[in-house]
Amino acid sequence: MADALFDRLGIADHPRIIAGYDGGTEVRDGAVGSVNPATGKTIAGVRLDTADSYEKTIARSGEAFIRWRAIPAPKRGDVVREIGNELRAHRDDLGRLVAMEVGKILAEGIGEVQETVDIADFAVGLSRQLHGITMPSERPMHAMREQWLPLGPIGVITAFNFPNAVWGWNAMLGAVAGDAIVWKPSLLAPLTAIATNEIANRVAERLGHPGVFELVIGTDDEVGERMIADRRLPLISATGSCRMGRHVGQAVAGRLGRTLLELGGNNATIVEPDADLDLALKGVVFGAVGTCGQRCTSTRRLIIHESVADAFCEKLVKAYETVRIGDPVAEGTLVGPLINEASAQAFDQAVAAAKEQGGEILTGGGRAETGLGGAFVTPTVVRAPGSNDLPVAREETFAPILYVFTYRELDDAIALNNAVDQGLSSAIFAGSVRSAERFLDPSGAGSDCGLAYVNLGTSGAEIGGAFGGEKDTGGGRESGSDAWKAYMRRQTCTTNFGEKFDLAQGIRFE
Ligand code: NAD
Repeated sequence: MADALFDRLGIADHPRIIAGYDGGTEVRDGAVGSVNPATGKTIAGVRLDTADSYEKTIARSGEAFIRWRAIPAPKRGDVVREIGNELRAHRDDLGRLVAMEVGKILAEGIGEVQETVDIADFAVGLSRQLHGITMPSERPMHAMREQWLPLGPIGVITAFNFPNAVWGWNAMLGAVAGDAIVWKPSLLAPLTAIATNEIANRVAERLGHPGVFELVIGTDDEVGERMIADRRLPLISATGSCRMGRHVGQAVAGRLGRTLLELGGNNATIVEPDADLDLALKGVVFGAVGTCGQRCTSTRRLIIHESVADAFCEKLVKAYETVRIGDPVAEGTLVGPLINEASAQAFDQAVAAAKEQGGEILTGGGRAETGLGGAFVTPTVVRAPGSNDLPVAREETFAPILYVFTYRELDDAIALNNAVDQGLSSAIFAGSVRSAERFLDPSGAGSDCGLAYVNLGTSGAEIGGAFGGEKDTGGGRESGSDAWKAYMRRQTCTTNFGEKFDLAQGIRFE
């Protein structure tokens, strides 16, 4: 099946791909296996970059940047439009590859590629709107304006769980901004990266722009560290764990480079007593169970009013028990595998810690038997002790575990929402505008997260808004709104079109 898929995606003879490779995800002789997490079987091998090939790629990217930035932005938009169309044509195949490589269900794999198509469309429009502003000068016959300029070749480091869309958010905006893109994907999802980059690069080459979309694949020691230390990359956009972000942030700051950090989340949903509880149930189940709990925006904590908690938990458990776990590409499956055995062990440890800390397992808590060979677990609901003291819930375990807390006053629920180190996504289900608006309080006293939803779950962002989070989530913003500014440099321009030499602030220097 993989052969036909590779053929349709145009990567069957790709020089990086080793067909029939029998190694796993351990790096061996300059190669790594891409393993299907559902079956534990290797799909193909991938040749890794060396210091030497890294150097060549960065040099190519630097030259491409000089040519690319000279192309007017709307013309760069034309190229991105073609890339979007090509991705549209390959959406289902690429979505299938995402599902095979990272184990998300087919609908979510395809949805992920659709997100890249959407951001490509958005970037095309944006290519005619990279506006600066003008401001009045304090001096006569002077004009002031601000303009936005291409930044350089930029480094994009992506996590395993969105192996296509996170590149899309960065690369489509970066490309219309005039940057060349150097992408370092996760070693857990190199095939999706090869296929995705190949599609973009094929279009760019055909239209006369080689080198705008480059890929480097390698270990963090050999390639990752080299990239974050590289002064030729003025921006490193890095998506992944807080642990990685802390390191990358410091390394790039050490050379006074810029970072755009999209890191871990620990997202909560508050349920008020007057909420539409059926709606809330759907939001919580999709948020907590979808993508097997492996989204940065997955719902990890439910904070529910004590008057409705018991009845809601009962319904939640029933809903969990009907969720079909299994082959992610089979019809009807809602939950696929975790990415690997290490993830399943982290799940086991979190469940054990929750029990030790007084949590009650309402459902799940163990491995799921599917007979497929991958690391499958049962989506889990843990009720916190009455004191709400459950330290394990302060960490992000990248697995489907939902911790349930109860409250009496909305202020206490908001305080609980904000009581973790991460600040990515948050949600409230409420019937009253008062509660909803307290959650969104413009004074800043409501949710402290980058994303705040009312009567929606924590996951499933649209591309039109800026995406990202506060505190340990890293503060970066990608995707819509004015996130494009991160990929450009700002220049304030002042022109004297008169004949006098006037100094600002009325200073005389004669
Ligand atoms: P990870 O931190 O293990 O790896 C992420 C990426 O960082 C990989 O490409 C990895 O190779 C790279 N990396 C690690 N160390 C590096 C180094 N020293 N130098 C350069 N690169 C380095 O994360 P993961 O397990 O792939 O993904 C899961 C995590 O990502 C979760 O914490 C999740 O919340 C987060 N995530 C965040 C967002 C967001 O937008 N906020 C989106 C997706 C995933």
